[in-house]
Order: sequence, then structure tokens, then C-alpha cells
Amino acid sequence: QKDIASQKRFEKALTRTQKQIRVFANVTDTVSAEAAKEEGAEGIGLLRTEFLFKEKQPTLEEQADAYREIFELFDEITVRTLDVGGDKKLPYLSLPHEENPFLGIRGIRLFKTHPQLMEEQLLAIFQAAEGRSVKVMFPMVSSVEEFTEAKTFALQAAQKHNLDISTILFGVMVEVPSVLFLIEEFNKVVDFYSIGSNDLTQYLFAVERTHPSLKVDEHSPVVYDAIKTVVEQATRPVSICGELAADPEAIGKLLKIGIEILSVSPKSIAATKEEIRHV
Ligand code: PEP
Ligand code: MG
Repeated sequence: QKDIASQKRFEKALTRTQKQIRVFANVTDTVSAEAAKEEGAEGIGLLRTEFLFKEKQPTLEEQADAYREIFELFDEITVRTLDVGGDKKLPYLSLPHEENPFLGIRGIRLFKTHPQLMEEQLLAIFQAAEGRSVKVMFPMVSSVEEFTEAKTFALQAAQKHNLDISTILFGVMVEVPSVLFLIEEFNKVVDFYSIGSNDLTQYLFAVERTHPSLKVDEHSPVVYDAIKTVVEQATRPVSICGELAADPEAIGKLLKIGIEILSVSPKSIAATKEEIRHV
């Protein structure tokens, strides 16, 4: 089974009824992006950019070089702006002490606390894109205003530096439950949605994803209903990039709901494509 999946990893993933499902990769750096290519990924559905910021704050040039290297590997790329806070900490970034960091300054909320840092990252992404169609998505969005403010901030930064970003699309990660109730409003402003089932599950059940003893049922009907809400109401493309997307138990259900793009870790690409062929 594993051998067959591996042999067919560069082939399309068609369901039994010949519906094509796109299988993209979640990558964390250049090495994993290269691995994703070798594993048969059709693009990058989630570029986690935190790797660049691990030890020290990268310069704009360092960032642009790193993004360019990855952008050159695939025609379709979705890059997520910095998602620190909560389970993702940076030693040099001064965030105030918080009693509940998972409910604190995370993801898109950094646009308010660290505008300079976010502007540099956006400029580096825009420079590296060089006319390519790149999708930029914001993590931890909980309201439409947060998204529109961040997008306006991005457009202004590009304008200030004379960068043409007509080929850049802007989207939102669906990982905070409030977004589930705002899809009709988001439809007016976003170009795409990407469901982050890891955080969405955490926030739906109020159970920390890294909690040592509390566990949630990631296959709860609640999670599938949440995903269904997005797919049914969205008028823009919807993908899913949480761990659920690579779970054999979930793939059939996700496709039945209407998901057409799955983004999974490089090592799961071949198996995910093979699973799709049996749905
Ligand atoms: C998610 O939350 O499901 C997700 C894909 O993002 P991360 O795991 O990086 O928070
Ligand atoms: Mg997340």
C-alpha cells in the first residue's frame, strides 16, 4: 500500500468519481519545501514563516532571500505571516507576561504590537514574489476589522516602497470560532480561506493543544460542522491545513463536506493522495 502510494505520488489525486482534489504541503523551511516537492506536493498550502525568526530577528534581505528560494519551487504558494505567541514563542521578542498566552498577543495581533516587524515581513514577501501569484494569509484572525486593517497596512507598506502587489492575494486562516459566524462578511473582503483545524479545535473546546493530559476528540461532529459551515457559506476557495487534513479517518468526511484542497505535511502527501483515490 505504502509502495503504491509512493509510486503514484506525482500523479493527480482523483476520487472514484473523478473529482480532482489538490494536495498541497505544510512546510516550515526550505528543506521541508524541497522535501514536499520530492513527495509530490502540488504547491504549498501553508508556509509557516516562524523558522526565520527562531534565533534572531532576520533582516528584510535575509527574509526575502529565504522566501524567494521557496517561492521558486512551486507555482502555487500560500505564505502565512508570523504566528508567534501561544505555543510559538520567540526568545528575543518582548511580549508582555500574560496569564493566558493562547488568548493573548498571537498571530495577527502582532500587527498592533510590532508593526515594524510585520511591515518588514510583508515587504520581504512582496519583494520575493516578484510578480508571481503568491497568497498571503493572516493567522489568528477573529474579526473582519482585524483582517481589513492588516490588509490595508500591507497595501500601504507596498505603496510606500513602490512595490507592485497586484498578483498578491490575501486570505484568512479560520482558526478562531468567531470567524464561523462571520463568513458572509468575510466573503466581501478575503480572496481565500484556510481552515486551521489544530487551533480551531483547541478554541472550540477551550482545551490547550499542548495540554499534557486533557485531550479532545478531534473527530467530534462539532469540528466537522464547523468546517461545513465555512464550506457552505464561503464564496471564495477553502482549503484545510490542520492535522485533520492528513488523517485517513477524516479525509472521506472532508471531501464529502466539499473540501477540494488539503494541505498536509510533506511525509503525508503520497498517503493522502492515495486515500483520496479510494473516496
Ligand atoms: C492550525 O492551527 O491548524 C494550523 C495549521 O496552524 P498551526 O498548527 O501552525 O497553528
Ligand atoms: Mg494555527
